[in-house]
Amino acid sequence: MNLTTPTISVIGTGYLGATHAACLAELGFRVVGVDRDRDKIARLAAGEAPFSEPGLDDLLRRHTASGRLRFTTAIRVAAEHADVHFLCVGTPQSAAGPEADLAGLWAAVRDLGRHLTRDCLVVGKSTVPVGTAAAMAAELGRIVPPRISANVAWNPEFLREGHGVQDTLHPDRLVFGVDSPSAELTLRLLYERPIAAGVPVHVTDLATAELAKSAANGFLATKVSFVNAMAEISERAGADVVALADILGDDPRIGRSFLDAGIGFGGGCLPKDIRALAARAAALGASSAPALLHAVDEANARARSRVADLALELCPGAGARVAVLGAAFKPRSDDVRDSPALDIARRVHRAGAEVRVYDPEASLNARAVAPELTYVASLETALRGAELVLHLTEWPEFAAMDPRWAARLVRWPVIIDGRNRIDSGRWAAAGWTVHSVGRPRRG
Ligand code: NAD
Repeated sequence: MNLTTPTISVIGTGYLGATHAACLAELGFRVVGVDRDRDKIARLAAGEAPFSEPGLDDLLRRHTASGRLRFTTAIRVAAEHADVHFLCVGTPQSAAGPEADLAGLWAAVRDLGRHLTRDCLVVGKSTVPVGTAAAMAAELGRIVPPRISANVAWNPEFLREGHGVQDTLHPDRLVFGVDSPSAELTLRLLYERPIAAGVPVHVTDLATAELAKSAANGFLATKVSFVNAMAEISERAGADVVALADILGDDPRIGRSFLDAGIGFGGGCLPKDIRALAARAAALGASSAPALLHAVDEANARARSRVADLALELCPGAGARVAVLGAAFKPRSDDVRDSPALDIARRVHRAGAEVRVYDPEASLNARAVAPELTYVASLETALRGAELVLHLTEWPEFAAMDPRWAARLVRWPVIIDGRNRIDSGRWAAAGWTVHSVGRPRRG
């Protein structure tokens, strides 16, 4: 292995892997990205991100042009090229149950192991059930050709979609799950720049590193569901959950982040990660985590249903025109995996409303998942003639909208703010009836 400037492969070039590969090239390494999706690889090789992530196109363009970053569908190329292999393949929820589907991960490990021609470090970044790294090390031990050493490490990823480049280049912490000093040394070399900038490094065992990611997502999901439970109480008691969250958030033991009441969490990580963690805990015979996480999941489903039910209650009859603002599961992303916004839009459509969805980035992906909805190209078109407006993804342009302008476009100025982001006083003053989550109605 070249310990001065290791060569890198990144296997699985989705949201995580493409970002990671481009950022490692930016940090000065020679990187090859591998994926079995030919279209994705073709776009990445042309220097173009196959999804929307601020700053990624620029890195891809520059580093594919310089030759420092290459993409291929052949894992053999990665096996021959790299000293360090990062596994970034998808670990979605299994179709049959709550556990993670590791078929892609095992396929990548076996494929890589069979093609290895040199000593290397295999670093897991995907979110996996605790115990996967140890099983992977054992499997590699069985399949790599004799005289080749393939050590395993785990380096979980905490990036947030929409901030992926920034979070990768300037992470808030690094976790190295290792079982040898040489693995730690290699990871320290790869992350030399962020470490020199003062990013804390947690060096730990493989199992703790794997669990760190699942536990972080479990805790964030718990905060969201907790505040949504408080929102339901607030509505019934005439309290204001935003003021409540501000008061709670000033307590440094609690913190204000992830205490925004609304339609709950979604996306390709939190929902499947809490289910996978619950399933893994149950398999290990640990019963507290499944009970807690099931409650979190149920409260999250209820947060969506409460807003969908309110929308149906407010729809002025069959065929009502409903403007849906947002389809992505979060702003600054085109990701619609398990999106609460899209879920609510579909429910309202199924109940007979005429739904028009506007999202600045995610319409193409949303159309592939929910082709029955109508997607429009501007906020204005979505609002025109609407009898109810649903604000479901907190894109800044929605909160910044002039409520007087919007009132002139709609038929009835009634909005459900599923994200508690619009200035309800200002909107009420412009003639709107504003229904928020866990706050008194305005107007
Ligand atoms: P994704 O679906 O966008 O990408 C996964 C990629 O893996 C796909 O392009 C798929 O074609 C590829 N793949 C699957 N099996 C393969 C194989 N055997 N060989 C080659 N390529 C293969 O998923 P993602 O959002 O990038 O997430 C990947 C992993 O990272 C998951 O475990 C996820 O939980 C974790 N993670 C994601 C984020 C995020 O913000 N998206 C953050 C932290 C961790």
